[in-house]
Amino acid sequence: MTTIIDGKAFSANLRGEIARKVALVKENHSITPGLAVVLVGEDPASQVYVRSKGKQTQEAGMNSYEHKLDASTSQQDLLKLIDQLNNDPDVHGILVQLPLPDHIDEEAVINSVSADKDVDGFHLSNVGRLSIGAEGIVPCTPLGSMMMLKDHLGDLSGMKAIVVGRSNIVGKPMAALLLKESCTVTIAHSRTRDLPGECRQADILVAAVGRPEMVKGDWIKPGATVIDVGINRIENEDGTTRLVGDVEFESAAEVAAAITPVPGGVGPMTIACLLHNTLQQACRLNGVDVPE
Ligand code: NDP
Repeated sequence: MTTIIDGKAFSANLRGEIARKVALVKENHSITPGLAVVLVGEDPASQVYVRSKGKQTQEAGMNSYEHKLDASTSQQDLLKLIDQLNNDPDVHGILVQLPLPDHIDEEAVINSVSADKDVDGFHLSNVGRLSIGAEGIVPCTPLGSMMMLKDHLGDLSGMKAIVVGRSNIVGKPMAALLLKESCTVTIAHSRTRDLPGECRQADILVAAVGRPEMVKGDWIKPGATVIDVGINRIENEDGTTRLVGDVEFESAAEVAAAITPVPGGVGPMTIACLLHNTLQQACRLNGVDVPE
């Protein structure tokens, strides 16, 4: 029988663990981990994410600092704010909500965040660390995907894995994490030849494409574990909408041994991992161990 990997339950459990550790860090070291979220402009989806991040940060017992800037804010003013946050000892994690307005150079902003407070793991220094297999801050969505994979499969060593998608925020870091776990990794993208054939060889399939239900059941090796990162909103026949992943769930679930659903799979893990990274950095920046 196929196992549905329940990201909602997994993330609730992880957030509970984080809250317990935050309480210990407060009690034993008088440190309250703090996460600053910077939002430029009024993109509706970004506003929802930022609200949700703020709420979950507080629920974990951490301080949440929200900075909402006008869409016309200059790059210089944004960099000035980031500089202040970099130097604020109460802030241990800084997240700049993407996308940024067109007049702002996203890469310059990402790399202006102190690498030690870059809880998104997008700073070049953290990207480099991950690529050489060194300790650093790992991007939240791949980190959450890897936590679920390891929880489900245990040792991944020697398994064949395919990551469909090569973006800097999901595909590439996911592939680096799988490689670190000694998987044999294929990274597929829009130019890959015979994508179904490549997928069929994989014991682990991670889909991060942004194309609704692209990966079909007959692309999947029987018994494989499928992590569906995609979040796509599609229209029903009656005009209402629903969320689907990059994998056609019904047909995939008939073949895979385990699969993450959409919604309720990888999605809820992303914010939980943001809190995980913030707690980790609060401890590192203060020279204390993360409680067991
Ligand atoms: P990007 O658009 O940045 O990257 C998509 C990747 O998919 C590219 O590498 C592209 O290849 C590849 N691709 C596109 N079409 C095809 C195709 N027909 N065949 C094979 N490969 C293809 O997307 P993201 O990585 O940012 O996001 C991917 C998905 O994950 C989206 O649905 C997004 O909403 C979701 N997501 C979910 C998160 C969560 O919290 N669960 C967090 C972040 C993203 P090429 O490079 O050649 O163009």
